[in-house]
Amino acid sequence: MARTVLVTGGNRGIGLAIAQAFAKQGDRVAVTHRSGDAPDGLFGVRCDVTDSASVDEAFTAVEAELGGVEVLVANAGITDDTLLMRMSEEQFTRVLDTNLTGAFRCAQRASRKMLRNRWGRMIFVSSVVGLYGGMGQVNYAASKAGMVGVARSITRELASRNITANVVAPGFIDTDMTAALPQERREQYQAAIPAGRFATPEEVAGVVTWLASDTAAYISGAVIPVDGGLGMGH
Ligand code: NDP
Repeated sequence: MARTVLVTGGNRGIGLAIAQAFAKQGDRVAVTHRSGDAPDGLFGVRCDVTDSASVDEAFTAVEAELGGVEVLVANAGITDDTLLMRMSEEQFTRVLDTNLTGAFRCAQRASRKMLRNRWGRMIFVSSVVGLYGGMGQVNYAASKAGMVGVARSITRELASRNITANVVAPGFIDTDMTAALPQERREQYQAAIPAGRFATPEEVAGVVTWLASDTAAYISGAVIPVDGGLGMGH
């Protein structure tokens, strides 16, 4: 059965691969983008997840074009790495506001229609770093760990209405975000990953579409790693 899917930050990277995977299986897919055009073949809505009014407008536009959002993929995210000693409060709160509060804004807005329909899927794109920690990533790791609490609390509130909320925790994926890594750091990370390589965005997308499927109806509050074994035990 085709569903209406909204992927935040679906104009590039992991979000785009997720949006394309849903589109390929016949779902009605919308992506948010902040600038430029929407990717070819996908319905785009402008949205900045740090702004509640912008989130509300984006959902309203998707509802008018494709129907109520049945599957939300909260994927939009940023990094702003620096060591604890140097991190400004603004750097900390800005990353939290985008990654964690942004996901909350979208989840809250999506829950309205999902509750009415008594069906919904929320998938939060976190990171291995959320539970593993990362040098220079106090802000980012806190934002990604917070998603686990969000998904598990939503599960307690909404699971009885056929709404699931899960976390996908990617390791290192080849996108713009990791392209900025110096070659030496990249090699160090690669040596620490049991799989010995970074993943493609499509490898994350496969897990997300599966979590949104009827097959995964009894999975909620889970944290699914897609990290080549990097975070085992965390
Ligand atoms: P990219 O940097 O390639 O893309 C980030 C996306 O988020 C872009 O679409 C961007 O939109 C969007 N975005 C950022 N800030 C906002 C905002 N305020 N409002 C709306 N959209 C916003 O990242 P990736 O594809 O690599 O990452 C996607 C998600 O996966 C992120 O949450 C990231 O933390 C997570 N992740 C990535 C990993 C990796 O190795 N790449 C590993 C683990 C997790 P725009 O184009 O307008 O800037």
